[in-house]
Amino acid sequence: MNTDSFGQHESNVRSYCRSFPAVFSTAKGSILVSESGREYIDFFAGAGALNYGHNPDFIKDRLIAYLASNGVTHGLDFFTTAKRSFIDAFVRQVLAPRDLDYKLQFVGPTGTNAVEAALKIARKSTGRTGVLSFMGGYHGLSLGGLAATANRSKRAAAGTPLHDVAFMPYPDGQMSAADSMRYLERGLEDGHSGIDIPAAILVETIQAEGGINVAPVEWLQSLRALCDRYGIVLICDDIQVGCHRSGPFFSFERAGIVPDVVTLSKSISGYGLPMSLVLMKPALDVWKPGEHTGTFRGHQLAFVGATAALELAVAVDVEAQVRRKETMLGNFLSDHILPMDRRLAARGVGMIWGLDCSAVSDGLAERVSARCFELGLLIETAGRRDSVLKFLPPLTTEDEVLQKGFAIIERAVKDCLDV
Ligand code: PMP
Repeated sequence: MNTDSFGQHESNVRSYCRSFPAVFSTAKGSILVSESGREYIDFFAGAGALNYGHNPDFIKDRLIAYLASNGVTHGLDFFTTAKRSFIDAFVRQVLAPRDLDYKLQFVGPTGTNAVEAALKIARKSTGRTGVLSFMGGYHGLSLGGLAATANRSKRAAAGTPLHDVAFMPYPDGQMSAADSMRYLERGLEDGHSGIDIPAAILVETIQAEGGINVAPVEWLQSLRALCDRYGIVLICDDIQVGCHRSGPFFSFERAGIVPDVVTLSKSISGYGLPMSLVLMKPALDVWKPGEHTGTFRGHQLAFVGATAALELAVAVDVEAQVRRKETMLGNFLSDHILPMDRRLAARGVGMIWGLDCSAVSDGLAERVSARCFELGLLIETAGRRDSVLKFLPPLTTEDEVLQKGFAIIERAVKDCLDV
């Protein structure tokens, strides 16, 4: 395996390639193939950017046809046919059936840029500066998003003070959901709490990078009520767990709540093409033209992919697939993995699950991930001290491939627990 070019010339900042040291060259569905011809089952799905797997034919055909017809590839924020098709399909298929009234803002093509825009919207519309985020939360690494990201080592790299964000306890089991909500409520109602009424509360309904912590439905509903009471903008960061990862299109549907602002990215283009957007209630569309602008805002190929992905979601009934595979994942963990050591814990929703190894030993999840890689499967770790093995296969993974993946993970956990 020749990695000289990377080792000698690519910045030290590279990271995922350290966990998965192969040179990949092709990919299809839930299988990645390295230069040497070795196949790997992908339970990582581009950190959630590949909900439909690698190179899905349905989307690929649309992209090839668009390129072949000289469709506009770069269009700033011009009106284009590709953008209109996406907007119309998104409104018709996602917003209208859910009775959601949002305006769409296309931002720079990374998730963190959607978070930047969402925070600006909240600050601009309320005239306040403060934001409440949650312990364990992850919202990207550019300065605004990073200020709301909890990970201390990522924050340290900013090299400048990160301010205007206070961190509240997430209902992740360290503190009960009731206590976490009481703490928040008390902080806001007590004029002597030291906590100013913020512009926004920024929340993931399921913390992904934070270790697959699933917020209870009642807690999310209380959060919505709290924001209503104080006129706080509720921002739901659905970048990782939106686009059907949890089952329905939006993760907050589970709680029957409607956030004021939603961020989407990762799997929205359906093909791993960079794309990011912000949804905001019309009253929050306080922008002046060009106030949050850039060269790449809604890439045209990504629009074509995203429009096709919406069609594909219906054609393959992705929501039903997720519901069925949620049971497969949950059963696999409870029947085959948890009995190996009673200190292991599992949690998840839809097709995002975590195996929490923290009570067994620090480093176990990372060892299992490394062993899985040796055995031909990619799976990442998440959470504090990387102690949670994070299950994130493409939503369209065939049952046989899932089963093969499960067998590898079972063997890897056995090997690492030495049982
Ligand atoms: N928010 C959430 C919830 C995320 O999971 C991520 C990426 N892991 C981001 C924001 C940042 O997205 P990006 O890496 O594309 O900037």
